[in-house]
Parts: sequence; structure tokens; C-alpha cells
Amino acid sequence: MDIFYYITMFMMGTVFGSFFTLAVYRIPLKKDITHERSFCPICNHKLGFWDMIPILSYLIARGKCRYCGEKIRIRYLILEVLSGMVFLTEYIALNMHFPYLNFGKIVFFISFIFMYVTIAILSGIDKENRNIHKGVLIFGFIMQGLYILYLYIVQKTNMYRYGMYLCIMIVLYIIDIVSIKKTGKSKYILQVLMLYSYIGAVLNVKLLGITILLALVIAFFNYLHKKTKYEETRFGFLLGMSAICIAIVNTFITYM
Ligand SMILES: [Zn+2]
Repeated sequence: MDIFYYITMFMMGTVFGSFFTLAVYRIPLKKDITHERSFCPICNHKLGFWDMIPILSYLIARGKCRYCGEKIRIRYLILEVLSGMVFLTEYIALNMHFPYLNFGKIVFFISFIFMYVTIAILSGIDKENRNIHKGVLIFGFIMQGLYILYLYIVQKTNMYRYGMYLCIMIVLYIIDIVSIKKTGKSKYILQVLMLYSYIGAVLNVKLLGITILLALVIAFFNYLHKKTKYEETRFGFLLGMSAICIAIVNTFITYM
């Protein structure tokens, strides 16, 4: 029976994966992400039910829009498969065994999904626009705050660390507002630091350190390989991807 739950988890992940594509495209344009139907970005044709099934719809239409025949970027398919794998791996790492569920693990899994959604959308927007979206970041902080509050009520977990990173975030946010008022632009380095503080609030100091190290190593190899300049490097994207990998490895270590 396990295989049935594995497939369900994987599919749930792919649905999230296709949501990320839409969110990454629409959030910077300030468009609605929950009510409005998806449409082809090239011909604007609204997508039907069958066009929105992750992976399968891509494979059946051979990577083309059914209405205008324009190619759909393979990145969408990769993102869906990766999201499916992230869900599946986290499910296995948590050792959940449906239907014999442990409430604590379910809450942990949900908090992981909120972290994953926040970081995946932030990374995607950063990859496309080199910009860390503050609205998404605040959403992440709120969801993590609720999780920490739950932990505090149930196990009297210390809320100190979360509070500290929240304060850092607020200070950075204020500096950013001042800098926007003065120069008209939000500083990328400030945005990256805000993302640091979010990752710090979600993972612990040790894991935050490893995440930064991993991101810097990837940035360095990226530089050696493609000679990417500082102005072009997507630190948010690199940090986000590193944080997700570290979080999954950490679940394995904690629960297995
Ligand atoms: Zn089209």
C-alpha cells in the first residue's frame, strides 16, 4: 500500500510545482494567483481542465501549447517533477506511514510545505527578475510564526530565535524603505539579507551557516564556469535551493 501514498505525495508535489510557475509569473505583475484561470502566456488562451494536469498535459501535448502551438519552456516540466520529488522525499524522511499518523509529524509536514512554497516562489521570482519579493517573504514569516506558536503551546519550545530573526527582518525592512525613499530603488543586498533572516527563522543557526556556505560554493563554481558577474548572480535563488536541500537532509537526520 505504501506505493499508493508515495504516488499521491509525488502528485501533490507536482500540483504545487505547476502553481509555482503561475505564482512566479503573476506575483511580480500583481495579478491574482488563486481565482483567475491559467492561460498561455503567448496566445492568452485560457487553459482547460486537461491542460492543467501536471506533467501529463506537458507530455501529451509534446511541450507545446494546444491552442497556438508555441513551445512551452521545459523548465515548467522540470519544476513539476522536482516538486513531486521534494514532497515524496520529505514524506519518506518523516517516516509518516499513512494512515497511522502522528499529529506532530503532520504539523511539521505542513510547516515544511509552507516553507517550501515560500522559498520556491521567492527563488523563482529572483531567478527571473533578480528581486526578492517582500510580500512573499512576509507571508513566510507569518506562517512560520504560527508554527512556532504551535510548538510553544504544545512543547513550550523557545520562541526567542524566531523573535530575533523577525526583529532583524523588520530592521532590514525599515532600512530598505528608507533606501527606496532616498534612491528610488530597493537594494538587492538588503533583500538577500532579508531572505537570510527568513531562512534563519525556519532552520537553525548551524543549518543557516551550511546553507550560506553551499550557496557561496555554487556561486563560486558558477562564476568559474560562466564568469557570472555580481550584478547578474541570483543569490536569492542559490540560497533558496540550498535551504530546501539542507531542510530535507535535516528531516532525514532528525526523524530516521
Ligand atoms: Zn498558446
